[in-house]
Amino acid sequence: AVKASLKNVTKKFDEVVAVNNVSLDIYEGEFLVLLGPSGSGKTTLLRLLAGLEQLTAGDIYIEETLVNDLPPRHRNIAMVFQSYALYPHMTVYENLAYPLKIRKRPEAEKRQRVAEVAERLEISELLKRKPKQLSGGQRQRVALGRAMIRQANLFLMDEPLSNLDAKLRVQMRAELRRLQKSLGTTTVYVTHDQAEAMTLADRVAIVNNGVIQQLASPADIYFHPINRFVAGFVGSPQMNFFIGTYTQGQITTDHFAYPLLADITQKLEEHGKVEKVLLGIRPEDIEVGKTQTEGAYPAKVYVSELMGAETFVFFHFSGTETFLSRTSPDFSANMDEDIWVSFKDKKIHVFDYETEVA
Ligand code: ADP
Ligand code: MG
Repeated sequence: AVKASLKNVTKKFDEVVAVNNVSLDIYEGEFLVLLGPSGSGKTTLLRLLAGLEQLTAGDIYIEETLVNDLPPRHRNIAMVFQSYALYPHMTVYENLAYPLKIRKRPEAEKRQRVAEVAERLEISELLKRKPKQLSGGQRQRVALGRAMIRQANLFLMDEPLSNLDAKLRVQMRAELRRLQKSLGTTTVYVTHDQAEAMTLADRVAIVNNGVIQQLASPADIYFHPINRFVAGFVGSPQMNFFIGTYTQGQITTDHFAYPLLADITQKLEEHGKVEKVLLGIRPEDIEVGKTQTEGAYPAKVYVSELMGAETFVFFHFSGTETFLSRTSPDFSANMDEDIWVSFKDKKIHVFDYETEVA
């Protein structure tokens, strides 16, 4: 079932088009992540859903009701922001109960809901404390609890973990995922962190320049990125790109020829047998070795970096442009050493030359 819909939604701030004709269905119970670089329009999209910004054009529906002119307080939406401002002078209990207090709910209901939510988030022992007596992770949980206290239609979260240190962020990420799954709350979550998007999301919407570039499962986004932007934005470090020319039976780049596997042939046919394509290969799909093997191409090491669990090998073919392979930490090589490079079968992505390069 569709919980909320955006239909041809546009938001302009004077000349700046923050959101550009976006259409999107948000399904009941899903964890939808909006992933994109800073300034791509993610926060504006959330604020439009919440009713905190006026639409320039388009329609927003929540549970089939047109909400374009419905003020935020009537949308039954809960939001958690990056700066999860708790009221410093209030106890955890008072912070949690606040959304019910301003709605003048009876005392008994407040006590019961706070107890339920606190237990759920394992913060029951903290109810008498003030925010400054809490750790970052505990504060984050209280902020989450405050959003959960009303049984809202829709949960909107804007980079809620970005103020936490790296270790806590990974922990909270896992907790958020479990919590969302067990509560079944429909959640729209904004981040610029691809790891958060990949781990939390049922579906990821990749946003750039106010446009959704691709909307798919994390695995689809990773294995079948539809364009160079999506391919470059997910997966770290970035994909390697080569311009390829299609000649009989193979694709030739400045550095190597690649046999036309069935899936590439299919892509070429989809593109109408174009002559030029852009090839993308992830660093983990490039293999390096010290000896010549079948289908390997000669290259030279630029630098080799031992990262612990893996080695990054920056290399070049004949030109000056460097490419990157991620390989096993057993591999080590010196600067300028000769190596052999090969590509894992069926791991080459084919993009439109016309739209991506020309
Ligand atoms: P993100 O959350 O992806 O970083 P935002 O939605 O905050 O992006 O911003 C998208 C674009 O809209 C940016 O160019 C930003 O400068 C602009 N913008 C956002 N809010 C306002 C505002 N209140 N007034 C003017 N421009 C804004
Ligand atoms: Mg933002």
